[in-house]
Amino acid sequence: MGKTTFKWLSHSGFQITSTTGKVLYIDPWLENPISSFGLAEVKGATMILVTHDHFDHVGQAPEIVKKTGGLLVANVETARRIQSESHISAEKVCYFGSGMNIGGNLLYEGITVTMTQAFHSTASGAPCGYIIKLEDGTTIYHAGDTGIFDSMKTFGHFYKIDVALLPIGGVFTMDPLQAAWAAKMISPKKVIPMHYKTFPILVQDPKEFVDLAEREAPGVEVVVMNPGEEYVYTK
Ligand SMILES: [Zn+2]
Repeated sequence: MGKTTFKWLSHSGFQITSTTGKVLYIDPWLENPISSFGLAEVKGATMILVTHDHFDHVGQAPEIVKKTGGLLVANVETARRIQSESHISAEKVCYFGSGMNIGGNLLYEGITVTMTQAFHSTASGAPCGYIIKLEDGTTIYHAGDTGIFDSMKTFGHFYKIDVALLPIGGVFTMDPLQAAWAAKMISPKKVIPMHYKTFPILVQDPKEFVDLAEREAPGVEVVVMNPGEEYVYTK
């Protein structure tokens, strides 16, 4: 049985460890008010994925790429921006420095990454989300920063999502109600809320999301995590 470990780094940041020990970081912003996980605790990484170029998502991704030699995955223009600003060599960026774009796939070290759209803004390229299929078939959807959109239903239908990571904080992304509807459309086995509590203007407590998800998506189990906490998903 495959076991996948999710560590919530706070905000939209996750460290995901696959059954075979591959480590992925997504939007690793470690220097925020509620993070307890620092760069010193990063040991190794296979891939570092960034959803868009806002500071709360790029975070320490360049430092992690440099420290671990892991592969940076990002949209074409965002990849180029991070590469030039942080002096990362082209071979450390997916597709030999090209980056990728919405709808595209990357197969790396037995893990398939599909870039999806997200409805948000970014200074470079386009904001995105990721559908990640690990070696044992466990499938994860990280929505990035986005409002709700109907294609989430298609993602759930085609990719059979095990665990969905959805923003619930409002202001810049889906609020608890939209996120609960999104959980219903995606229909994953588990949903982990993210992008809340970090700033005073964001939703502070996941309870409203938990209640709404229970009502709108009763078949989906909500896993609420504290920053730095780990959750083990068994496929
Ligand atoms: Zn954000």
